[in-house]
Amino acid sequence: MKMKLKEVYSALKLDVDDIADIDVTGVCFDSRKAEAGDLFFPLKGERDGHDFINSAIENGVHATIWQSDHEIPNHDIPYVVVKDVSEAFDTLAKYYLAKVNPKVIAVTGSNGKTTTKDMIASVLETNNNVARTQKSFNNEIGVPYTILNMPINTEVLVVEMGMDRTGQIEHLSSLANPDISVITMIGEAHIEFFGTRDKIADAKMEIVSHLQEDGRFIYNGDEPLLRERAKNVEQRKYTFGRKNDETLYATEINAGKNSTSFKTNLWPEIEFTIPMMGDYNVNNALAALLVGLESHIKPEAMQKALRNLYVTENRTEWLKASNGADILSDVYNSNPTAVIEVLSNLKNIPTEGRRILVLGDILELGDASRELHESLANYINSDDFAKVYLVGDYMKFLADKLAVKYSSDDLNWYQKDQLDKLTDDIKKELNSSDTLLLKASHGIHLENVLHALI
Ligand code: ATP
Ligand code: MG
Repeated sequence: MKMKLKEVYSALKLDVDDIADIDVTGVCFDSRKAEAGDLFFPLKGERDGHDFINSAIENGVHATIWQSDHEIPNHDIPYVVVKDVSEAFDTLAKYYLAKVNPKVIAVTGSNGKTTTKDMIASVLETNNNVARTQKSFNNEIGVPYTILNMPINTEVLVVEMGMDRTGQIEHLSSLANPDISVITMIGEAHIEFFGTRDKIADAKMEIVSHLQEDGRFIYNGDEPLLRERAKNVEQRKYTFGRKNDETLYATEINAGKNSTSFKTNLWPEIEFTIPMMGDYNVNNALAALLVGLESHIKPEAMQKALRNLYVTENRTEWLKASNGADILSDVYNSNPTAVIEVLSNLKNIPTEGRRILVLGDILELGDASRELHESLANYINSDDFAKVYLVGDYMKFLADKLAVKYSSDDLNWYQKDQLDKLTDDIKKELNSSDTLLLKASHGIHLENVLHALI
């Protein structure tokens, strides 16, 4: 982005006579990452951003926003004084979005947001200048930041929107005014705060609250909670999923360890391939294909784009243990749907040796914690998974359920602070032909086990 400071003032509706004639060439809110020419927004995080103005200036910011209740220090850069820094951030984002005026695609859902966002961007890039959310920068800072950092020639902006409470997606949608809103699926993530899946669905539906009148709503039609709510959406709607009453569905899926291929009802002669494991990713790709179709991208171009997909963040990775065993690692994030999906995919992937599970607690499930952990027992059998290692208080509930299916040799449970013992036990057990799944919420810190194994 590039703006005259004068334009910043007028976008923020501030009336000041004597404005320095300088350009700002980007925005930042983290003084450590500030670059020469940036406009600094001292947002309130764990600490007050105003405390970091010295370091922002050292890194070359040209000007800073400043909240009027803070005393202005004595530095020789322009201070744009506002009532509320975070409101100013939103207002400038809205202004800049209107100025660049790209087509906006907004993506939310309990799982698959980042994957779908990157698939959409890759598909649309074949024909447009596309900007997208980096990684999962999807909250009330990430969305305006994404907007303010898009290049001035952006034609399409693909924005990931996340939430952990009601009203958040509504707010993010009001900043982005989507032309296309996408919901990947409804799961149980953050159910601690919402209470029920119905309430999660309501909150996700806020993504259509600021959908353009001639906009499109693309959603997972296999989810009854969404189908029901979509009836109230007046804009044109398209669905994707596994059932054959969807606009777009997969007719055939071939799942591999490093890639997944599928055919669809709309282009039966074309086989699409995505360079990632997991048939759930087919749904994400179907959402992207619908966005591409709506944007008049040819199916052959989409096929190529998906094959060469560029992702800004990949949470599920294949790695090698130091003894040569395969590790499927997802140690930063977990929720019940994602665990069930990965288990059902893993057991269908051909492996030479044993499949071994290392699962840690899934956090933020509130009152549903015990039941949801116990329910995972339905997906775990000794025929598919030779050994199971479980970590954390909630996983004890799963361990108790699994005790009828596993011998005590093959089922092991650890306290959260016993990761060293867990690592030693796995090391003693692991053969080079084994395939090991590591999955837990980040709070369990299975990354320590991972690092010790690789
Ligand atoms: P976050 O909220 O952490 O940003 P996200 O919604 O962006 O997550 P991704 O990063 O795309 O999700 O995927 C995270 C994990 O969710 C994947 O590794 C996979 O286990 C699971 N997942 C992805 N897509 C789906 C889907 N469509 N249905 C169910 N599970 C999925
Ligand atoms: Mg994400």
